[in-house]
Amino acid sequence: MWVDLHVHTSFSDGTLTPREVVREARAKGLSALAITDHDTLDGLEEAKRAGELFGIMVIPGVEISVDLGEGRSSHLLGYGLDGKWSSFGDFLGKMRLSRVERNRAILEKLRSLGLALDPKEITDEADEARIGRPHIAQAMVRKGYVRSVDEAFARYLTRGAKAYIPRRRPSCTEAMEAIREAGGVPVLAHPHTVGIEGLAELEMCIGKLVREGLMGVEVLYPDAPFAIRRFLSDLCERWGLLKTGGSDFHGGLKPEVHLGFGRGDLRVPLEWARLLKEAMEKAKEFKS
Ligand code: AMP
Ligand code: ZN
Ligand code: FE
Ligand code: FE
Repeated sequence: MWVDLHVHTSFSDGTLTPREVVREARAKGLSALAITDHDTLDGLEEAKRAGELFGIMVIPGVEISVDLGEGRSSHLLGYGLDGKWSSFGDFLGKMRLSRVERNRAILEKLRSLGLALDPKEITDEADEARIGRPHIAQAMVRKGYVRSVDEAFARYLTRGAKAYIPRRRPSCTEAMEAIREAGGVPVLAHPHTVGIEGLAELEMCIGKLVREGLMGVEVLYPDAPFAIRRFLSDLCERWGLLKTGGSDFHGGLKPEVHLGFGRGDLRVPLEWARLLKEAMEKAKEFKS
């Protein structure tokens, strides 16, 4: 029995609603699913209800862009959070505000490059905070400014490109504290994207985060090289960290990545979801 612990919905830059994602999980024969939208917990309620309806274990989660220092950035997953902790709500509110400001700055920059986009051409979604660079990239394709989403990123939106605007990010330390303070479990997402060359350096980087409260590592991820998957799995066993894994499903935005199975070779065991749930329950007890 397989699970998927990294999934986006239309509450951020995924194209399926939480209910549709849960239904897809059921169709794929998955037994558990964690919803990890960027900067928001708003899709969780609908996902939970759909989970009950379709008989799928739904784990609440969130994904946050963080600063690792030394010019490095990464994504942090937080599991087991609910809307109950207003301090965490405030923390996410700041994240969404910085996203809205960044989106506006990108549109301004594109306009100055002769690539004007009306906000209404990007989405009919009222909530600007749901918009990410993928939405802007798709709108650029529709306008005929570029041929593909990849081209939009490569020429304009990726870090260092012509219309790239950095976003204010919390430090990873700060984000881990906010998650733990709210009774959640912080996990480092897709560590191979941190921008580290050697495994020894990656181990040092993760070691520092563990001393600051990191509880797990995303070991399985569609694009992670196999040597890294093996290395991370060993590291988790040596250090007693939680292992997680997921497809980073975005629906039609990344059509080649399938829910649960990624590019076809992803298999995340149900046991990992069970252990994660156990850790979530302990983290919650500890706070209450
Ligand atoms: P944002 O949340 O606005 O920073 O956008 C991040 C999203 O953009 C992530 O979900 C990535 O999947 C997507 N993304 C980042 N870089 C690229 C790229 N080079 N090509 C396609 N999608 C990308
Ligand atoms: Zn995303
Ligand atoms: Fe990510
Ligand atoms: Fe993601």
